[in-house]
Amino acid sequence: MNERDSEWMLGHLLSCGWETADNPQNASLAIINTCSVRYHAEHKAFSLLGFLRKIKNENGLKIVLTGCTADAYKEKLLKDFPYLDGVFGPAEEKELIERIDELFSSNKSMLSVGKQTGIKCFNSGSDYRKEKITAFVSIMEGCDNFCSYCIVPYVRGRERSRETNDILDEIHALKEKGYKEVMLLGQNVNSYGVGNKNGFIKLLEEVNAIGIERIRFMTSHPKDINLDLLKAMKDLEHVCEHLHLPLQSGSDKILRLMNRKYILSDYLKLVNNYRKIIPSGSITTDIIVGFPGESTKDFKRTLFALNQIKFDSAFIFKYSPRPNTAANGFVDDVGRKEKEARNLIALSIQKEISFRKKMKWIDKNLEVLLERKDSEGFYKGRSSQNFTVHAKGSALEGVVKNVRINEARINSLRGEIIE
Ligand code: SF4
Repeated sequence: MNERDSEWMLGHLLSCGWETADNPQNASLAIINTCSVRYHAEHKAFSLLGFLRKIKNENGLKIVLTGCTADAYKEKLLKDFPYLDGVFGPAEEKELIERIDELFSSNKSMLSVGKQTGIKCFNSGSDYRKEKITAFVSIMEGCDNFCSYCIVPYVRGRERSRETNDILDEIHALKEKGYKEVMLLGQNVNSYGVGNKNGFIKLLEEVNAIGIERIRFMTSHPKDINLDLLKAMKDLEHVCEHLHLPLQSGSDKILRLMNRKYILSDYLKLVNNYRKIIPSGSITTDIIVGFPGESTKDFKRTLFALNQIKFDSAFIFKYSPRPNTAANGFVDDVGRKEKEARNLIALSIQKEISFRKKMKWIDKNLEVLLERKDSEGFYKGRSSQNFTVHAKGSALEGVVKNVRINEARINSLRGEIIE
């Protein structure tokens, strides 16, 4: 979602006469769009600030920090990084151009975080996109779930959905421009049409009718996945066979502390239904290890879940406390070394599972949307299941081809284009 927000901000700046610089030394403005979902992401943004400070000393570069970190720390950022010129929260992205104009005219540092209420008008301004084949399309913002570790509801506000016609117009225009795939984005994408039961399914049906080659969506919460949605995924020919469904923990105790509103057996039922309805579909997840109160027994439940479910891949992270969240008040009682050890154990189990699952595709065909040629002469693309596939043979970029898989790696597959 942040990537899409960055594209959107850049599009607006370009449409107002700004140009992109080839490097920060030649720039008069640098905007760091931050994510604060994990400490690591935040830390990267702060390191980048240090780097830009040196350039600012040389050329007077103005430095602006936007996104969730801006909202999470507000004036503290101007105090800790006095060379920052602007701190604008996600709610201010709509007024970005005005804020930047003020910044240049007043020459004073500014803090503006506001309150997240409306939704950005994604169809206005210049519609800059980084990619040529896949386009991100935001369909909703915010979240009402309040998972205890997560900062999103505090910095992105409550759930708000875009008008369906606005979304459909954007996708029609993307198709006309030659885009082959859309990724429907939302912090809680399946809640689209807040309060409107099956609002997301209706949207999927309408997007499917546009006829764009592929439709993906993320991120899903298990509480919003029902049989109707799984059947729609199967029946709608353009919807990809991939479900990213964060599990977070295999322990019911930890799931309760996380305020995830399901227990492992609910999740297992969902996975069974998904696999029954879409047998060739893939499923991926997010896991947090070392959450406050996670005993060895709780951690073993997560390992049990990984072994039981056999995800195609998983993002596995060490817990880091986030400001303003409920879990920030819990005792962070799993030590750093123990978190690291648990992370490594879970990662190595998942690596083995990912590899074994990829091996099953050898000598089978996958439909691959070819994106670009790599330095070794392979086309890099993705299958409907969201597997990265490197394919040998001749074809055009942006077309879907059948690829016969002949090699499996942990994170990708290789094969020959056959038709
Ligand atoms: S559902 Fe996702 S975005 Fe919402 S609070 Fe939970 S983790 Fe955060």
